[in-house]
Amino acid sequence: MTKTIVANWKMNGSPNFIEEFIPPLLSALSTTQHKIIICPPFPFILPVRNALKSTPALLGAQNCHTDVKGAFTGEVSAQMLADIGCKAVIVGHSERRTLFGESDELINTKISAIHAAGMRAIVCVGENMRMRESGKAIETVIQQLKATLPPSSNPKNTFIAYEPIWAIGTGVTPLPEEIIEMHLALFEALKNTTPLLYGGSVTDQNSAEILVLPHVDGVLVGGASLKADVFQKIIG
Ligand code: PEP
Repeated sequence: MTKTIVANWKMNGSPNFIEEFIPPLLSALSTTQHKIIICPPFPFILPVRNALKSTPALLGAQNCHTDVKGAFTGEVSAQMLADIGCKAVIVGHSERRTLFGESDELINTKISAIHAAGMRAIVCVGENMRMRESGKAIETVIQQLKATLPPSSNPKNTFIAYEPIWAIGTGVTPLPEEIIEMHLALFEALKNTTPLLYGGSVTDQNSAEILVLPHVDGVLVGGASLKADVFQKIIG
């Protein structure tokens, strides 16, 4: 079954890395049944786009500003990303919430900007370990969902990525039943078919079993998306 697999390179990569990464990626893309979205850092979006132009893989970014243009030194607008061929933007990632102080309100405005630019928002939500241990994981995540999604959101312009903070980059993943429970809660809260991705320590060792869980429409892959051989196995 076709799923969506998003690669979040975070602040990693270099011209040499891209040169080595692209050939095995091209060969994996020629056989995969899945939809692939690669999200490199800003400077590498164009070279990766050019390298993948004869493939069905899509390009995404990892952040954007809320405004279309103006005096915002150092920022990049959603429209600029759309203009250079991006089809999606990751937004609400826990690293941006924690390290850059992004609030639900800001994320909501960014998602509106992404939609206005004609792209898909990959909206990350997820609880920390304290919330999970106190039995408030679902409540926390549904609250984030409600606070961040603007009225423009629909199943065609949005993905929701459930990323438990304690699973990101730790090698620890939730139990299958925990993923099932959260994705069901998201599905019920959304009341529509917005695709639901799981993210957090996805590797070639666990992706196949995660991808078959109910209401899992794909995965968001961080660290493992930077290892050509591992990513090749994930996208199958
Ligand atoms: C992420 O940062 O979105 C992520 C899922 O990271 P990792 O796969 O490395 O846990």
